[in-house]
Amino acid sequence: MSLSTTTIQEGLALAARVHKKYKPVWEGREPSEAAALALYFLPHRSTKLELVPTRPRMIKWYCPFADQAEFPTGHRYCINVFTGCEHNCEYCYAKAYEPGHASCKKDFARAFRRDLEELEAYEVPAAPVHLSNSTDPFQHLEAESGQTRFALEQILRYRRHFTSVVILTKNPGLAAKPEYLELLQKLNELPAGHARRDIFAHQGLPGLRVEVSVAFWREDV
Ligand code: SF4
Repeated sequence: MSLSTTTIQEGLALAARVHKKYKPVWEGREPSEAAALALYFLPHRSTKLELVPTRPRMIKWYCPFADQAEFPTGHRYCINVFTGCEHNCEYCYAKAYEPGHASCKKDFARAFRRDLEELEAYEVPAAPVHLSNSTDPFQHLEAESGQTRFALEQILRYRRHFTSVVILTKNPGLAAKPEYLELLQKLNELPAGHARRDIFAHQGLPGLRVEVSVAFWREDV
């Protein structure tokens, strides 16, 4: 399915207003790609002259602070599966949300599916996705809520819209459980027909990374 000419024009009209900080992500792209990025990430009804990628999303722009001229990362996705984080690390801004506590996001599944459907409908080019910038996707809450598992299953269904899947956790034990391990192994494969499959295979890049951060309070350790 391709975007209609009218939809591409609507997207390009939004893209023309994108703030200069994010412009490098739009520059040099085919009109349909530039329109798709604008339609997915930019607010549609804002009356501001300049737009930033703040459309409310569960699958959202990775870092809305980074200047793309200085840090040319391209568009990337971030999914914060929960609000807050039980680890309560001293150095982390997540403490400001719900100190030492995490909760499930309201209406997470519905909003998550809607975002995936729109990624597909707009044909947004594939990009890396990161779980999670301001919460631990494998903290204890996951064992009772299964929200991270749901998100990963949905990413697997829509795998062609993502390149690398990166999971950052302080609790890799959960990732090693069979029901998660099987899912992670499937996510590691870019499916047939994926736009970057050959490049990943040629460069030996993994489709999935689980990163484990280890915090110490003793420098010698
Ligand atoms: S585990 Fe990560 S998200 Fe959670 S408080 Fe620590 S640094 Fe922040």
